[in-house]
Amino acid sequence: MSFNKEHFENELIWEYSPFQKQINEEKYLAITRILGEKFDSIVDIGCGNGHMLSRFSKTGAKLYGADFSNTALKHLNGFAESIHLDLECVKEHDFDKCDLVMTFDVLEHLRESALKNAINLIKDIACKYIVINVPNDEDLELRRAKCEKCRTIFHPYGHINTFSEAMIVEMFSTNKIQHMATVSLGPTKPYNQHTLSNISKCVFDGYMNIETGTCPSCGGSSLIRRRHPLGLMIKALNRFLGLFVHREKEELIVFFRVLE
Ligand SMILES: [Zn+2]
Repeated sequence: MSFNKEHFENELIWEYSPFQKQINEEKYLAITRILGEKFDSIVDIGCGNGHMLSRFSKTGAKLYGADFSNTALKHLNGFAESIHLDLECVKEHDFDKCDLVMTFDVLEHLRESALKNAINLIKDIACKYIVINVPNDEDLELRRAKCEKCRTIFHPYGHINTFSEAMIVEMFSTNKIQHMATVSLGPTKPYNQHTLSNISKCVFDGYMNIETGTCPSCGGSSLIRRRHPLGLMIKALNRFLGLFVHREKEELIVFFRVLE
């Protein structure tokens, strides 16, 4: 089992913060505003603890949640049918076709083969709509953490891919699957002036200052949290410069219609 998979069996990561719940609410409202609430069946690929899926229980649709984390799937208790899904090794699947196939915060975590499997699976089982949510053209360099023990520099949320709207449209469009809308929501993206940010990281260890994170190399959870005054000044300058730049929202939701 890869380190990543162990990470996703940790019960603690499936307790969402009020902030995550609020973003999910925004996503739900955006989806129902564009697609309405009439679905016979909905599947959430990489459903996690099912929080997003549970928002759709009032639509009366039959709900399916698919995830590789058994710990996460336990949270679906009754409101949705759980499907164990490992995107690394999808050969033949026994998913039923669903009106709405959606995925939230998943594609940015997947290695190439799993990403390919996910895209094929989603295209294959969608009857009416596909909803894809990823971070909006994320700057993967910006949110880096550094392990205190082995000094590995990594993305604390395990993001390895970044997608623009155009990339998502390109990945999912076929002659039967058509892009219908895109919504961006959530907080405004942070500004990252690369030179400043690199100086802060290289000279002052100004890496992301977060409570928890697990190093992909040694499994340690102690991250560098040094806050050198000059590093903080650079951070403040970066933030100031960001005031003069147009910045988009952090979350991207791309909608597709599946033609009969
Ligand atoms: Zn480490």
